[in-house]
Amino acid sequence: MSHSFTLSDKTIAFLKEPKKLLIHGQWVAPLNKQYFAAINPSNNQEISQIPLAESSDVDHAVDSANKSFENHWKTVSAVEKASLMFRLADLIERDQQTLMELETLDNGKPLSKAQYDMDACIHHFRYYAGWATKIEGATYPVSKDALVYTQKEPLGVVGLIVPWNFPLMIASWKLAPALACGNCCVLKPSEKTSLSALYLGKLIQEAGFPKGVVNIITGNGNPTGIALVRHQQIDKISFTGSTKTGKFISQQNAHSTLKRVSLELGGKSPNVIFSDADIEKVTQSLHWSSFYNTGQECTLGSRVFIQKTIFDQVIDQLIKQSKKLSIGHGLENPDLGPLIDQGQFKHVMDYIKSGQNEGAELICGGHRLNDKHLKDGYFMGPTIFSHQNDRLKIVNEEIFGPVVVVSSFDSYDQVIQRANDSPYGLAAGVWTQSHSKALQFANDVKAGTVWINGWDQFSPAVPFGGFKDSGIGKEMGKSAIDLYTQEKTVWLNY
Ligand code: NDP
Repeated sequence: MSHSFTLSDKTIAFLKEPKKLLIHGQWVAPLNKQYFAAINPSNNQEISQIPLAESSDVDHAVDSANKSFENHWKTVSAVEKASLMFRLADLIERDQQTLMELETLDNGKPLSKAQYDMDACIHHFRYYAGWATKIEGATYPVSKDALVYTQKEPLGVVGLIVPWNFPLMIASWKLAPALACGNCCVLKPSEKTSLSALYLGKLIQEAGFPKGVVNIITGNGNPTGIALVRHQQIDKISFTGSTKTGKFISQQNAHSTLKRVSLELGGKSPNVIFSDADIEKVTQSLHWSSFYNTGQECTLGSRVFIQKTIFDQVIDQLIKQSKKLSIGHGLENPDLGPLIDQGQFKHVMDYIKSGQNEGAELICGGHRLNDKHLKDGYFMGPTIFSHQNDRLKIVNEEIFGPVVVVSSFDSYDQVIQRANDSPYGLAAGVWTQSHSKALQFANDVKAGTVWINGWDQFSPAVPFGGFKDSGIGKEMGKSAIDLYTQEKTVWLNY
């Protein structure tokens, strides 16, 4: 089946425009005139040419952000900042169809899932627009001779580095609180998915943000990302991506000016199903928590533990539901799209081979889908491994593909120990009808977010972030205000 979807006129017009960097309110070509191709992972065809920003472009962007912060943005009232952000949210809503289409072309994700991401962007900008006027300090009645108070100030210039799996949604998790707190930004999308960020740049201009408040530079981790990370005039790096790159950023930070750094990193989240769980609810969720976004999701419930007495029943349901998932080009709006590129495909295949070599039982999937209309993309069906050995590579390492490892357990004590036996601590899930068991699990599990009888629930108002190797700092909610401000203490002696 080939798709017959017609792109909107706005999307077609945008794709025809030459792509540039947004620096100080102007669209400019990269100084070295280097470009790279944006590729549609569904059919491996080029969609557009994207500018490659090198360190001199990064210097210009950071310089612009600094000038804008010092000369203008820090004097703009909170009410005005909020109204700019509300306007931007309205424009994202107006052009939601185009943004969805761009994300689907660039990332491969199904249109309906891109729609969910755009809804989340809109909510984020509206939620943090509300915060702009509510960033408060405190007074401390510690002396009869002095007024002691604190105020929260913006950091200055923040570098925002985002991955390719939820390109604009994760950009909005960073941009919205950073702007509400009064910072100027340099945003770097992943080189695999730059288009929606560049389109957002147009909306930022249309909304009326002063020049230099948001600069958008495209390019690879090396040189573009590294140049941002090493830059001396940046006050903070907010990064979402792999734990490997997060560690690199921490290391680099030690060698340059000490920036604030917040890191949202990888995961290998345990999803624990007790025998007293509502099996029907588990069945409705498990294939999504295991394979959503073709497994390219940091919170994927990629380690499933099922209590022995219900193991066969739950596995049968998981296989049945997984086989029902439709797979295809994002514009056909299937359940699952392709993997992002050849490199990621190979990365996932290497793990599948490793699982087989190390003795895990491959229950289904594990190969490329070669149907006629899929053969040019990087398509792989849901893949399930069964095992009883927690030392396997596929059990310990993040695969970031549609691969889940399932295992049986006997007792609470055994499963909580196994669930926590991981360098990661991003999220965890537990399925049981016993509230006391669920709350005991929520207390004992070492993870930043715990879902009880559910999975993947998010809200801009609710903090999200990882424990252990899954990151430093919490995004969303009031927590993100702390990430993008610094607290000053003032002693006024009478
Ligand atoms: P990477 O760490 O490779 O890249 C993330 C971003 O960092 C991209 O913009 C990338 O640029 C850039 N980058 C890469 N290397 C460097 C560097 N040395 N210095 C500065 N920037 C760099 O991760 P992926 O893009 O592969 O994303 C997948 C990973 O992200 C997974 O491990 C996943 O778990 C994690 N993730 C975590 C989330 C969370 O909230 N905890 C959410 C989503 C993903 P480019 O791509 O252009 O090379």
